[in-house]
Amino acid sequence: MRKSVRCGNIIIGGGAPISIQSMTNVDTRDVKNVTEQIRALEEAGCEIVRLAVPDMEAAEAFSLIKKNVKIPLVADIHFDYRLAIAAIKNGADKVRINPGNIGSVDRIKAVVEAAKERNIPIRVGVNSGSLEKDIVKKNGGVTAEGLAESALHNVKLLEDMDFDDIVISLKSSNVRLNYEAHKLIFKQTQHPLHIGITESGTVNSGKLKSAIGIGGLLLAGIGDTMRVSLTGDPVKEVFFARDILKSIGIRSSGINLISCPTCGRTKVDLESIALQVEEAVKKIEPLREAKGLPPITVAVMGCVVNGPGEAKEADFGVAGGDGKGVLFAKGEIVKTVSESMIVDELVNLISNC
Ligand code: SF4
Repeated sequence: MRKSVRCGNIIIGGGAPISIQSMTNVDTRDVKNVTEQIRALEEAGCEIVRLAVPDMEAAEAFSLIKKNVKIPLVADIHFDYRLAIAAIKNGADKVRINPGNIGSVDRIKAVVEAAKERNIPIRVGVNSGSLEKDIVKKNGGVTAEGLAESALHNVKLLEDMDFDDIVISLKSSNVRLNYEAHKLIFKQTQHPLHIGITESGTVNSGKLKSAIGIGGLLLAGIGDTMRVSLTGDPVKEVFFARDILKSIGIRSSGINLISCPTCGRTKVDLESIALQVEEAVKKIEPLREAKGLPPITVAVMGCVVNGPGEAKEADFGVAGGDGKGVLFAKGEIVKTVSESMIVDELVNLISNC
């Protein structure tokens, strides 16, 4: 069994459900704005939120933000150990540091002592872009072995200070390198692993890299908490993280949406209907999960040839006709509605079950 740590009310590792993380992209010092974004992330299904701490004002803002939200907050620290200590004192539930850029052992020890005092974990984060020069030189470049070596070296610094509340992340924007590095470290440590593909790109390209990179690791049994990194609104990161977990059958309360590819028989605008249902489902899913409801399948089908069969097999569905749709629930026809009402009526059925 892998080790576990507690981050606020979330357990990471030790067989706990894989938690979804994201990171705010507004100014941490702007308490009102950052609170709104954290709430939007939470509503989307995020379970742990990380905030950048570039200066002392941002570190002190933690105490105000903590009063507004319940979700665990992680302080993201680079270079200045005093910011880590201040964020911890102001209520951070975890800090993310790269010991390599914090400086002397004494400074790292000061952060460790503050974390011990508040009983919170430290995430040791290593990125391919900031690997120690001697490790890069020794390995002839940025390699999987080098990433794993750097992470284990930094973890040992903390373990030698009698600190064990550790989460490890080692990330690369190169999917294969990322995968190989995780395979190595997974065998060499029992600390929980935070997985993701760093700087994966825009919503379009980043989704693909993250699906392969994170999905591949999860299928190999690697990963205790995850973040999808996308350039853009972090709420999209959470929706997509949920999609990854759902696609590989990890989230049990998910809504599996199936839709046909359409063909010459389709007589409704099925693409638009499927996209609208997909958007609505993203908002319903976290509510179902909070209630512990079982997974369901929703079918959006284009015509009466294959449509009714698939729609009947699903928990809820629609089979398109000529400018209309037949709605199904639990295998039974509910009613026929005009095309303009298909989305609203189907979403109503799903929401009320
Ligand atoms: Fe075509 Fe009907 Fe199959 Fe959709 S369900 S692809 S509309 S035959």
